[in-house]
Amino acid sequence: MLVSHILREKGRDVVSVTDDMSISDVVKVLSERRIGAVLVIGSAGGVIGILSERDIVRALANDGSAALQREARAYMTREVVACAESDSIEDVMETMTRGRFRHLPVFDDERLLGLVSIGDVVKSRIADAEIETQTLREYVVMGAP
Ligand code: AMP
Repeated sequence: MLVSHILREKGRDVVSVTDDMSISDVVKVLSERRIGAVLVIGSAGGVIGILSERDIVRALANDGSAALQREARAYMTREVVACAESDSIEDVMETMTRGRFRHLPVFDDERLLGLVSIGDVVKSRIADAEIETQTLREYVVMGAP
């Protein structure tokens, strides 16, 4: 299974915020969209970071409620790791495990194609396992050739 298969299933919608959006507004976006991270867009229009719920928890632990009035760029991660549509789910799992994060934007050179989360990866692994179980069941019921 490839990243392109996940994007075909879930769509290519990526939720993003501008780098000057307040953390309190970012929290509303995360809650309303029921997601754990947003990409951060700079004034030139490109992706300049990623901000996840973990960054916000850390911000609140370090700076208290004052963090809510600060801008997304103050707490985002600037070095965004991405994957390609042609990467396998195993590649994605390895990258997420190595980087200790649960979100991976998908790029084709400079073009943003989508975003894969750990939830999408687990869903796709479960679907694979179900297909395998069904195939084995049919094999047993119908008998080996
Ligand atoms: P997460 O597990 O995705 O909630 O993120 C954990 C930490 O990794 C946070 O500091 C995020 O900003 C950061 N992070 C999440 N996804 C990525 C990514 N694709 N590239 C770089 N950092 C990331």
